[in-house]
Amino acid sequence: MTTMNYRGRLAPSPTGYLHLGHALTFWRAPVRCRERGGQLILRIEDLDPARCRPEFQDAIAEDLRWFGLSWDEGPDVGGSFAPYVQTARRDLHLQAWETLRAMGVIYPCTCSRRDVLEAAGAPHGDDDEPNYPGICRPRSGNVAEMERRGVNWRFGVPSGETLRFDDGNFGAQYAIAGEHFGDFLIWRKDDAPAYQLAVVVDDLAMEITEVVRGGDLVRSTFRQLLLYRALGRTAPEFYHVPLLTDASGRRLAKRDAALTLRALRESGMTPEDLHRRLHQH
Ligand code: GLU
Repeated sequence: MTTMNYRGRLAPSPTGYLHLGHALTFWRAPVRCRERGGQLILRIEDLDPARCRPEFQDAIAEDLRWFGLSWDEGPDVGGSFAPYVQTARRDLHLQAWETLRAMGVIYPCTCSRRDVLEAAGAPHGDDDEPNYPGICRPRSGNVAEMERRGVNWRFGVPSGETLRFDDGNFGAQYAIAGEHFGDFLIWRKDDAPAYQLAVVVDDLAMEITEVVRGGDLVRSTFRQLLLYRALGRTAPEFYHVPLLTDASGRRLAKRDAALTLRALRESGMTPEDLHRRLHQH
């Protein structure tokens, strides 16, 4: 199958060294892209100031190249959809915040993370965003005029609606808004765009046609589909890759330093050894 203008992306967060688990996902994206004669984009997702460090950005690109990957556009090679680093794309994120704010589909939330955790319990499985119990959700539909800064902003999900998308790898996926996930963060009180908003805005602006990423993000895909719908835009296709597990079926610990590409390389492994290991998966 050849799709004209296929555009895929690799979207690592520079929060640490690349791990074997990332490598599996990142390996799949260029394969799908090549099969479709497309373009591959490297985009650095560095929005979280507490977790991202600039030195990891270069390390990630270096490790990906060592592993055998290359890309057509990115921070190091340029391209017509620059910039390719998310913190440099704030104006676009802000415009989308303003659009959603004017539509009344987002609202300010003064709950602390602890309030939310206490009311909602632990987040589901792999998902790191607990179900927001709706404490600050406006009852009347009128969102108070409020400054953007200093509070979290949430998207009000259509509670009870069953959502569906057809995943290129996993097939039909379903979730019920308000049950499997709640009103999610759009803008954070430290005045940074939240992941869900930035990723949708950037995938749209970079004309991404298929998002290939880890299976831990399936639930986020439903949130993002609601954003595409609110913005009146067509969503890309989605293809999620199963997460690497150990022999007992447990997900590989992201923080296991022995499993970074760097450590594996230093222990004498070649990219070919790793490719073989990934093929067996
Ligand atoms: N930046 C995210 C991560 O490294 C991936 C986001 C995405 O692919 O949508 O986990």
